[in-house]
Amino acid sequence: MNLLTDLKRLFPYSQFVHSQEKIIQDVQNGKSVLAIMPTGAGKSLCYQYPAKLSKNLVVVISPLIALMQDQEKKALDLGIRAAAIHSGIGPSERNAKYQKLKNKDYQLLFVTPERFRKKEFRESLNENKVDLLVIDEAHCISLWGHDFRPDYSKIHQFRKEIGSPNVLALTATATPATQEDIIKQLGLVDQCEVIYGGMERAELAITVEDVFGNDEKNEKLLKLLDVKNGSQIVYFLLIESLAKFSQFLRSKKVDHLVYHGDLGKDQRASSLSRFIKNENVLMLATPAFGLGIDKPNIRQIFNYEIPGSIESYFQEIGRAGRDGQEAKAHLFLSDDDLSISMEFIKWAYPEKEFILKFFQMLEENPLGLLQEGFGFYREKLSFKNKRDYRVESAYNILERWGCVMPLSEVLSDENNFAAQKDFRVIIRKPADDDFRNENQKVLFQHQNKKLLQIYSWAKDESKCRLGAIYEYFGADYLVCGKCDWCHENQH
Ligand SMILES: [Zn+2]
Repeated sequence: MNLLTDLKRLFPYSQFVHSQEKIIQDVQNGKSVLAIMPTGAGKSLCYQYPAKLSKNLVVVISPLIALMQDQEKKALDLGIRAAAIHSGIGPSERNAKYQKLKNKDYQLLFVTPERFRKKEFRESLNENKVDLLVIDEAHCISLWGHDFRPDYSKIHQFRKEIGSPNVLALTATATPATQEDIIKQLGLVDQCEVIYGGMERAELAITVEDVFGNDEKNEKLLKLLDVKNGSQIVYFLLIESLAKFSQFLRSKKVDHLVYHGDLGKDQRASSLSRFIKNENVLMLATPAFGLGIDKPNIRQIFNYEIPGSIESYFQEIGRAGRDGQEAKAHLFLSDDDLSISMEFIKWAYPEKEFILKFFQMLEENPLGLLQEGFGFYREKLSFKNKRDYRVESAYNILERWGCVMPLSEVLSDENNFAAQKDFRVIIRKPADDDFRNENQKVLFQHQNKKLLQIYSWAKDESKCRLGAIYEYFGADYLVCGKCDWCHENQH
């Protein structure tokens, strides 16, 4: 089998990049693979290739609809019979796709893990022989990853139902402990090869800037902004500091966009589309911004506060320099940031008693959510600290467990205008099993450890920044030659 000949014949590429060839070779030889590769290292080809050559079906499980639509389009452009089935498409399109799936018309199928909850989907899928099961963003399987999704933990079971095909699990951010857990969760212990694919991000220069307080941060950041040269993103942990910095920029007459959870759906959508359409834009955002965005010319990423983990940080800065041109990442480090971050983590993992209490309030007063939002419950639970967002966290957790309706449905326009007498939030009471399977206390301790790891990485003066990140993910240490440490140590 000559992979390169087929690549040139079937795809608009003349060669493989990074570890593509090794991954594809193993997959074609019927092996299961966990590949650690950053976005932009060409992971799509690793499933497009087997799909294009397959007489059967390749299924890709992906966490994000936005990502999926883009992947579907790219595959179709390559002449692969591909489809994405998700909640964003209307019933007629969905039914047509189910029918085609039933008729074995597809080579490549993109779905979220939640799709497996639908009986009709499973029945259509079961008509097919699945050659390969691809799990994108595979760290979502592990509680130790940084984006756990409960439905991802059922993939092991889905795999059995579709005849236990080989697996290609893909992630950009998994430490050795997370890698081990992913393999275990998939039931592939001793049957899965781990490949590091293209960890090199040669175009990325990382600098950690020590500052005292936010005023110095603002001034320094302002000087580093280069708004005429490509797009830039400033990431904030707190919406509060984002708003203050936005005000500061307005006083300096610097144009910018904002994106965070307190904005309405329409505002977020318009902010996002302006960011994507325009050449040189400055975006102030919370970490959720950027997932699934493939904008090539992001030249600088700033972290106004220290992110919660090296995983999140690497994911955020990985959005810069996708065009292969030079890009910079600046992390600001101020001594009070660590305590803010610790507090932030504490509120992300509320205790069992808190979750139950909040659930009870939701049950008694569901309309409060529609009329006054989370503030209604926060006030009743009498918090003094405005930044305390345990109520939001508790809702997310309950939503993940399937105990409450998805927030986007609850807050839809339809509900706002409806008579509200049929308004529903609650699905079922959280069970002991839910608390056991996702123990918030354990997760909290784990996240705290991750925060301390990124903090010591930022403070470490003995290693190349990028090299130390590679080591963290279990890859070989290297010296990047571009970061602040390399400059000072003349590499
Ligand atoms: Zn370096």
